[in-house]
Amino acid sequence: MSVEKMAGVPVRFGARFRPALLRFPGRPTWPDGTYVAVWPQDAVLPDLAGHAAAGVQEDLAGVVLAELMHHTCFVCAARFEAIHFEAAIPVLGRNLARHRFVSGCPACGSDFARSRIGGLALSQLP
Ligand SMILES: [Zn+2]
Repeated sequence: MSVEKMAGVPVRFGARFRPALLRFPGRPTWPDGTYVAVWPQDAVLPDLAGHAAAGVQEDLAGVVLAELMHHTCFVCAARFEAIHFEAAIPVLGRNLARHRFVSGCPACGSDFARSRIGGLALSQLP
């Protein structure tokens, strides 16, 4: 996903969801990784305006990195943007216990096993 598209994520999902760019300084040929940084629901959101989050560990307490994906309900065909945690990235990956998961399709009520809809947050597409 492009940096420009990722920048629109917080508008749709709320203040706990912010665009995050992962850079690999030691690997100049690796592209930047675009992710969504997700703060837990019980977290006090830091004011990131004017300073970078890097190195401010207390601001990142409980944060996990996630990806924005598109999913279609297997039962009713409703389409969603879903924020999925990225378990493959060890950075901040131990914080998942502080997060709540949305499981099942909000449009038809089918559980995750039937709908395959779930994630840290969902936004229904038209
Ligand atoms: Zn459904």
